[in-house]
Amino acid sequence: MRFELPPGALEVLRRLNAAGHQAYAVGGCVRDLARGVPPHDYDICTSALPAQTERCFAGERVVETGIKHGTVTVLMAGEPYEITTFRTDGDYLDGRHPQSVAFTDSLTEDLRRRDFTINAMAYHPDIGLRDPFDGQADIARRMIRCVGDAGARFTEDALRILRALRFAAELGFDIAPDTACAMRELSGRLTLISRERIAAELLRALNGINAVPVLQAFDTVLLAALPDYPAAALPEALHALAILPRGDTVLRLAALLSPCGEAGARALASLKPSRALSSQVLALTAAAGEDISRAELPLWLARLGEAQLRRLLTLQGRDDLLSCLPALMAQHPPLTLGELQINGRDLTAAGLPAGAELGRTLNALHRRVLLGELPNERGALLAAATKMKT
Ligand code: ATP
Ligand code: MG
Repeated sequence: MRFELPPGALEVLRRLNAAGHQAYAVGGCVRDLARGVPPHDYDICTSALPAQTERCFAGERVVETGIKHGTVTVLMAGEPYEITTFRTDGDYLDGRHPQSVAFTDSLTEDLRRRDFTINAMAYHPDIGLRDPFDGQADIARRMIRCVGDAGARFTEDALRILRALRFAAELGFDIAPDTACAMRELSGRLTLISRERIAAELLRALNGINAVPVLQAFDTVLLAALPDYPAAALPEALHALAILPRGDTVLRLAALLSPCGEAGARALASLKPSRALSSQVLALTAAAGEDISRAELPLWLARLGEAQLRRLLTLQGRDDLLSCLPALMAQHPPLTLGELQINGRDLTAAGLPAGAELGRTLNALHRRVLLGELPNERGALLAAATKMKT
């Protein structure tokens, strides 16, 4: 088995080897290479202790990213490489973090602490694939399987339960029976995991190619990860997700939460989303039930903006309106009050009352222009405003 590594990764391995240390590409990148998919980054593991690693890269940019756990990041050929000392994890007391880590010079021991067989492979260009837990066979079987006893591994670190779900959804792999069984049995331990970590894995799962079948099969795990989510809403949400495009987290999350009513906002808040993500998702779930007519489309465009309106129409399955959007955009309707061919000063100059009334009049004119009832022309707008006053 031969894989192509990028020049930066080869140089990292070469320097560590030249100083007498073992070093391999490891984890996700080897999994992706074995699947024939280009890795998005390359992690390195080594027998060198962190200080020894740093010495190998004197003169390069080195960042002590996780020195406690033995990780330093080196910038090589313009790319960052995380280099982690072979280690074994001590006892896990809190369901997430090992109490201590111990460095080792055994690659196999380092691979043993990793979550799934497909993530527990290492590669060196001169040595080839090191795969003591038969990850390659599981890639061929398209199978997520814990390294060692699934129950023990999920008890150590409950985040692995959601990682299994996420990898199954992203890769379209099945989950081995013992691993699946332990996931369901131990999903109550997800309460030990920080909301941010849960959110990160869930959002990736939601965007996965196999998200719907996986979430269907592991509905109890999903509900354990999102305790505020009403179970009764799940079938409708999964049905909606099944026909939606992937890759847009706002859209996928809105589809998951739309059938939940009030509880949706609570479930969303429990994921500690960024303010932007939260407001976008909530705007969509609030509008999901609206029956938009063709005439109102410019109004909604002004209200939501193009990207959000596209999402809303996609969520609603309104292909008829989606196909109207390009022509509507090409007309450049005045999406803000500022684009109206008249302003407050014009109205007061024409003798209309100032103050709050003025704003209401402008908004009413804007609405009528967007609905196509009035042209966006000074004369017509002034005439309409004067008429509205009487
Ligand atoms: P991707 O980056 O594509 O999401 P990855 O496999 O690289 O996938 P990372 O989260 O970057 O995932 O982790 C890198 C490697 O570290 C994994 O391949 C796995 O070997 C190990 N790993 C990560 N998280 C855990 C964990 N919670 N328990 C055990 N091993 C883990
Ligand atoms: Mg990774």
